[in-house]
Amino acid sequence: MHHFTYHDDRLFAEDIDLTALAEQIGTPFYLYSEATLRRHISVFRDAFKDTNALIAYSVKANSNLAVLKVLASEDAGADVVSGGELQRALKAGIPPEKIVFSGVGKTVDEITMALNVGIYQFNVESEPELNAINALAGGANKKAPIALRINPDVAAGGHEKISTGKSEDKFGIPWSQARELYAKARAMEAIAIKGVDLHIGSQIDNLAPFETAFKKIAALIDTLRADGCAIERLDLGGGLGIPYGEGAAPPHPDAYAQMIKQVTAPLNVQLIFEPGRMIAGNAGILVTRTTYVKNGEERKFLILDAAMNDLIRPALYDAYHDIWPVVREPETPLEKYDVVGPICESSDRFAKARELPAAKPGDLFAIMSAGAYGASQTSQYNSRPLVPEILVSGERYSVIRRRPDFETMIAGEEIPDWLG
Ligand SMILES: *Cc1c(COP(=O)(O)O)cnc(C)c1O
Repeated sequence: MHHFTYHDDRLFAEDIDLTALAEQIGTPFYLYSEATLRRHISVFRDAFKDTNALIAYSVKANSNLAVLKVLASEDAGADVVSGGELQRALKAGIPPEKIVFSGVGKTVDEITMALNVGIYQFNVESEPELNAINALAGGANKKAPIALRINPDVAAGGHEKISTGKSEDKFGIPWSQARELYAKARAMEAIAIKGVDLHIGSQIDNLAPFETAFKKIAALIDTLRADGCAIERLDLGGGLGIPYGEGAAPPHPDAYAQMIKQVTAPLNVQLIFEPGRMIAGNAGILVTRTTYVKNGEERKFLILDAAMNDLIRPALYDAYHDIWPVVREPETPLEKYDVVGPICESSDRFAKARELPAAKPGDLFAIMSAGAYGASQTSQYNSRPLVPEILVSGERYSVIRRRPDFETMIAGEEIPDWLG
């Protein structure tokens, strides 16, 4: 469910007319609906309301401070994967005791920062990382709360580049080493074992891989407890898929919750979740204007002013995004377009042979479901300034990240003296 709808054939974000907004902001720009963000987090929260689950929003999906502030006001915690994300979460008012820290390559600086602020849990992904955390926590006279991220060796994820729970993936502790590493952790002075963690992939569109992995982990918890490990928390990661187009029907959070409650009820643990895409994905769009329509020999190209540096998902993961005209004219015939950006790469393409209303230069389009892994993955490739981000709330809107001008874009660059 989202709040992007047509009124008299003009696309609105909540109560804001996108045609008028595009005149004011200039294109391209990201736009998020606050009501949709709130709805998504509350649907997830309600699905687990009879448990004391911690919902730690995965900051990498969309890390804009205003988005984090909205989610903080809904009592969300945060799952961070870098020192930068940790600082963003704190700045947005997410308390450290609701922050978990994931990722395979936490540096000394990042671990130190997390220890200093007192985060809820480190999700540890290797033995060397565990040793590093033990040493740093010991040096600071602290005990670091940890879960080991276990790789359950289960295939999941809509695309090989977003599958993380197979033994060949770089993530987590190999299944066969889990028990042994928990035993080592138990002997470490500055480590406080709190739980078990896993995250098997992203855009998972059915419950089966989750259920397989969660049952494996539940059995592991029994074993660990028999070994003498006090396991009080179970972090099940994120990964729940969202509908990217018509006909797509990933599981509803309620069905996901029901399955999880069944699997975990006997364990008596606090559940932690790290949803990202499910919260932000359908709460955001990328609004872009047609620059040219070009007739090739075999196909027609719709050339937009947005490009792969603004939204890399189609180029990186072959991702599908619906594309909606911002103004619908019912009599307009349909055309098949390759929808592309201006960047000098053949992968700079949003859609191939997509049926859309015949377009002309100046026509606006909305690339839908772009709220997660959109703005957070942007770059300035081809020296294109980062696109602005807008937050809409009813009839209000606010620019929550400005479009940098040329001077700002190059502000960190310097020509050495010797080059004159
Ligand atoms: C990316 C990531 C998530 C969020 O995944 P979604 O598919 O966006 O829900 C959660 N946990 C970890 C460790 C991640 O890397």
